[in-house]
Amino acid sequence: MGRYDIVIVGAGIMGVASAFHLKRNNPEKRIVLIDRFGAPGQGNTGRSNAMFRNTFSSADNQVLSNSTIDFYLHLQDELKVDLGLQQIGYLWLMSGEQLSASEAFVKGMERNGIEIRKLPKEELKRRMPGMVADFDSSEEARLMTLPNIEGGVFGPKCGRLDPDKLVRYYAHEFLRMGGSVAFNTNAERLLVGPSNRLGIDGEPFVWQDSRIEGIQTSGDFSETLTSETVVLACGAWGNELLEPAGIDGHVSAKKRQLFSVSARRSRGLEELLHTKNFNPLGLLPMVILPKSGVHFKPVSEEGDFWIACEDEANRPFIHLPDHDLALYAAEQEYYERSVNPILSAYFPEFRNAKVKAMWAGLYSYNTLDNLPFVFKQKNLIIVGGDSGSGIMKGDSLGRIVDAAYRDEEEASLYGDVRYGTSKIGFGRRDVEREEWVI
Ligand SMILES: Cc1cc2nc3c(=O)[nH]c(=O)nc-3n(C[C@H](O)[C@H](O)[C@H](O)COP(=O)(O)OP(=O)(O)OC[C@H]3O[C@@H](n4cnc5c(N)ncnc54)[C@H](O)[C@@H]3O)c2cc1C
Repeated sequence: MGRYDIVIVGAGIMGVASAFHLKRNNPEKRIVLIDRFGAPGQGNTGRSNAMFRNTFSSADNQVLSNSTIDFYLHLQDELKVDLGLQQIGYLWLMSGEQLSASEAFVKGMERNGIEIRKLPKEELKRRMPGMVADFDSSEEARLMTLPNIEGGVFGPKCGRLDPDKLVRYYAHEFLRMGGSVAFNTNAERLLVGPSNRLGIDGEPFVWQDSRIEGIQTSGDFSETLTSETVVLACGAWGNELLEPAGIDGHVSAKKRQLFSVSARRSRGLEELLHTKNFNPLGLLPMVILPKSGVHFKPVSEEGDFWIACEDEANRPFIHLPDHDLALYAAEQEYYERSVNPILSAYFPEFRNAKVKAMWAGLYSYNTLDNLPFVFKQKNLIIVGGDSGSGIMKGDSLGRIVDAAYRDEEEASLYGDVRYGTSKIGFGRRDVEREEWVI
C-alpha cells in the first residue's frame, strides 16, 4: 500500500461519509479507507436501529441531523438512490410531567424551524385505539411506576433507513472517485514521529515537534502506512489507538440491544403496524413510551416491529471494547422481564409477542454532553462520540471532517448551511448538552 495523503481508519457511517467528502473536495489526494471487518458498515452502523430525527434539545444536534436528513432525502428522492428511507415520523408519548418538561425544548425547536406537532391525548386514543393511556387502579402499572399518557409530540420529518444501503452508497462513490479501500485490515497503532527527522535513535524527543507519521497495520494489508493526515473514525473503539499515543478519545461504550417480533401472527399487531393518519405510508411512526425510553418501530417489508429500550442505569460503560461484537449478545430474558412488561402495559397486543430475532451493538457516548465531536490534533482528525445517533448526523460530520482537513473555519453542510468547524471540537467547543437521548 505505501504512502497516502490521507488514511481513514474505520468504515462505519462516520468513516465512509468522511471518505466521500474528503475525496470529493480533494480529488487529487490519495486516500485510503481501512477497516478490520470485511466490508463497510459491519461494526455498530450495521447493528443499529438506523432511525433518524431532527428533534433534539440541542440546537447543534438539530442542525447536524436536519442537514443530514435533507441530504439523505435528496439522495433517495432526487438522485433515486435507494436508501430504504421511510419518513414514518417519531411519536413521543408523554406523561403530564414529561409534557411540561419538554415545553421549552419544543419551543426551541419551533424557533429553529423544526417541524414538531403536539398531539392531545384524545386524538392519540382515536388514532391508536389499542393503546392504554390510563392505568386507573392497575396494580401492575403501580408496581412498575408507569405514568398515564397525557399527550404526545410528533416529528414528521423523522424516519428510518437501511444503514447497509447508506454506507454502500458512500463507499461506492468514494471508490468511483478514485479512493482506495483495505478491508480485513487492522490499524495496530499510530506511528508518532518528529516533524523533522534528524536520524537520531529515540526520536521524537520532547524538544522536537511531533506528528502522526502513519499507522502500523496487520491483516490482509500488513505494513507501515505513512500519510500526511490520519482520520480516526473508530466509533466505540476510539480509545484503542488514541490512548497509547497519549490522546483522550472522549468515548465510552455501552451495550444496546434490539429485538424483533413478528406482527404477522397477530391481527392486533398487524393493525397497529398499519396505523393510518401519521404519515403518507399508512404506517405507525416510531413510538417512544413514557417509561424507560422503551421504543418500537414498524419494519413494514418484513411485517415486524423492532423494539429497544433506553437502558442507562446499571449497564456498565466499556472503555476498551473487544473487537468481536458477538461477545455483546442480546439477552432474551432482558426483553421478557424488563422491556415487554412496559411495552405490553401500554400496548397489550404485544403481551404474547415472542422474540423472532435479537442482536446488540455498542453506543459510543461522549459522556461530556452527548453530542458528537470532530477535533483535530496536529495532523490527526478524530470523529466520533455520536452517543447513539450517528447515522442521522453522518453526512454533516463527514463534511466537518473535510472542513477540518482543509483548515476551513466553517463547514458547508448540505442545503447551504454554514457551520463552525470548531463548534464540536474540544479546544473551542460551543454546544449545549443534549437532553433528548434515547
Ligand atoms: C442497537 C443500536 C441502535 C442504534 N440506533 C440508532 C439509530 O436509530 N439512529 C442512529 O443514528 N444511530 C443509532 N445507533 C448508533 C449508530 O449505530 C452509531 O452512531 C454509528 O453507527 C456510529 O458510526 P461509526 O462509524 O462511528 O461506528 P461503527 O459503525 O462502529 O464503525 C467503526 C468502524 O471502525 C472500525 N475500526 C475501529 N477500530 C479499528 C482499527 N483499529 N483498525 C481497523 N478498523 C477499526 C470498526 O471495525 C468499525 O467498522 C445505534 C446503535 C446501536 C448499537
